[in-house]
Amino acid sequence: MRATIFFAFFIGMTAASAARQGWWMREPIRWVQTNLRETDAALEPGRLVSQVAAFDANVLLMAMGGISAFYPTRVKFHHQSQYLPKGRDPFGEVLRLAHARGIRVVGRFDLSKTHKEAFDAHPEWFFRQAGGRPVVYNGLYQTCLNGGYYREKSIEILTEALERYDVDGLFFNMFSNPASDYSGNPLGICQCDNCKRLFRSRFGRELPLSPDADYRAFLRESARSMSETIARLIRSKRPNAALVGTSPDITDMVFSESNTAVRRPLPLWPYASSDNVSRARNTYPHKMAINQCMSFIDFPWRFATVPQEEIRIRLWQNVAHGGAAALNMHGTMEQEDRMALEAARPVYRWLKEHQEYYAGQSSAARVLLFAGGRDDAAVRGLFRLLAEEHIPFGTVDNLDWLGKRDADLVIVAGPAPRELDRFIQDGGRVLLTGPGAPPFDLGKPVKLWKDVQGYFRIRDHALFPSLRSTNLAFMYGDYLEVEGRSPVTFIPPSMFGPPELVHVDWKDTDAPGLILRNYGRGRVAWLPWEIGKLYYLHSSQAHAGLLRDLVDHLLPDGRQLKTSAHPLVEIVLMRQGDRHLVHFVNLSGHSQTAYFDAVPMRQIRVQVAGRFRSARALRSGSSLPVSQTGPYAGFTLPELGGYELVELR
Ligand SMILES: [Zn+2]
Repeated sequence: MRATIFFAFFIGMTAASAARQGWWMREPIRWVQTNLRETDAALEPGRLVSQVAAFDANVLLMAMGGISAFYPTRVKFHHQSQYLPKGRDPFGEVLRLAHARGIRVVGRFDLSKTHKEAFDAHPEWFFRQAGGRPVVYNGLYQTCLNGGYYREKSIEILTEALERYDVDGLFFNMFSNPASDYSGNPLGICQCDNCKRLFRSRFGRELPLSPDADYRAFLRESARSMSETIARLIRSKRPNAALVGTSPDITDMVFSESNTAVRRPLPLWPYASSDNVSRARNTYPHKMAINQCMSFIDFPWRFATVPQEEIRIRLWQNVAHGGAAALNMHGTMEQEDRMALEAARPVYRWLKEHQEYYAGQSSAARVLLFAGGRDDAAVRGLFRLLAEEHIPFGTVDNLDWLGKRDADLVIVAGPAPRELDRFIQDGGRVLLTGPGAPPFDLGKPVKLWKDVQGYFRIRDHALFPSLRSTNLAFMYGDYLEVEGRSPVTFIPPSMFGPPELVHVDWKDTDAPGLILRNYGRGRVAWLPWEIGKLYYLHSSQAHAGLLRDLVDHLLPDGRQLKTSAHPLVEIVLMRQGDRHLVHFVNLSGHSQTAYFDAVPMRQIRVQVAGRFRSARALRSGSSLPVSQTGPYAGFTLPELGGYELVELR
């Protein structure tokens, strides 16, 4: 369920192949996955394709093979669904009928498990827990990424599939050795002979019992080499087909999910789709983002859907950030709980009717949020603050954009990468957050205060106009004290009980809570404490004000977009050919774990840096008067429901 984790997992890979500009970069994508059970092999292909077409989807992700083949296969140990009607080829028939209606088909494989007959014949292909036990889940045996099933048998399986079927892409589920099974039981590290031998030859020691840095590198390399093998096979057999998956350096489409899980810690992350798609499209701008909106609440209840407005918000966020609309359901399109499908249907209809706006978008944002592959509270706090402030930004996991894309400001969640040194020296503006010292000199560290509870005192209210009503910001967590003077200073822990004694002993210090200085030709602000995480968890106005005023202080020419919009209206600024697109996603229907219809908003004033002659609101179908004031073009959106798209020319 934690699809986003894969971003972190594959960071640091070098590009295995140049990005390809296939159909997935040229066409608007309205993707639907019918995640079939093997019993669905008896489905009626014509009926499924008609339903997909009526849903206005144009790409179908359909079960093809692996655990169960949905076509007659001749490859030994490739298990054919026993529900496959004799003489029929459901996958092939769906593919033919879908192509005839202009619907592309991506085949889904799951190579992570297979059946007992393969285990009995080739026990060396399989995952082994400590002590040598195989992992058996509902009768299926877990394969090992370094074993012969992945390395040899899968190539035979995929060769047959690719030679026989003109697929538009392939997707792989559960690619890699998982840490736990579907029930959440930890599996440990695979201790099969292949893993043992390969690990020993690379690291000169035995496999550890739980993952360490060497093991993570080992597994990453195994996944990478296997992904590259599959990518080469696809490109040799079906050069126009896309590889879809979670290794973004290798795949053509970067896959992720917006999902829920009943035991995941709250709060819900209402920007899940924006986060995933912004990250994929800004880090890998020449690849498409497939962020699948999962209809169900969690694995044990795949037939019960999440709230309808949650589905709609995820879909609008997907397309607002330049990704595909993508929805998953389990089984065919005939659902017991039809709420997710019904919520998505009008969204897909509208996206089809206006599909010329939903291909070839790229971010026009001039602020970048560097997440470095992390998806934690620090990243989310900064992400949410920027969204609430309506500052157009893109999330990046690496620094490949350096030298290719202008950035007025880079905001870093966590330790700064060394390569930013040159960017700042050359005149760049950077806001660093977190107690990790940057790898360039911003002051000599004095003391790391571990897990401390204190305050920061605002000493310069001219620098922080948002904080005119407070002299204090609270803090807890780690704080790195460095040498220097500062407009924000640390107040260490003091007594907080009983009330008679609260803080009567506190002592101000000169220890900086903010390092603000010129560096080379650039300028840096560094908050050496966990402000992003604190904002995510507590939404303190003092923390928001600190960040907001620092962003405004650092932006050399002011904000790219100014607006009167409510903080819960997400505004995304994109470029498409010679026009700009301003997406408005109204999140005001979200509260705690509930999603209701968005509260309608009225008279939203927007100013965008640049010269534009015309503004057209596509959903309401109205032309909006544009006024040019200095470097900004302004318009007023009369009304906003759940979503609006304004075209600027
Ligand atoms: Zn193994």
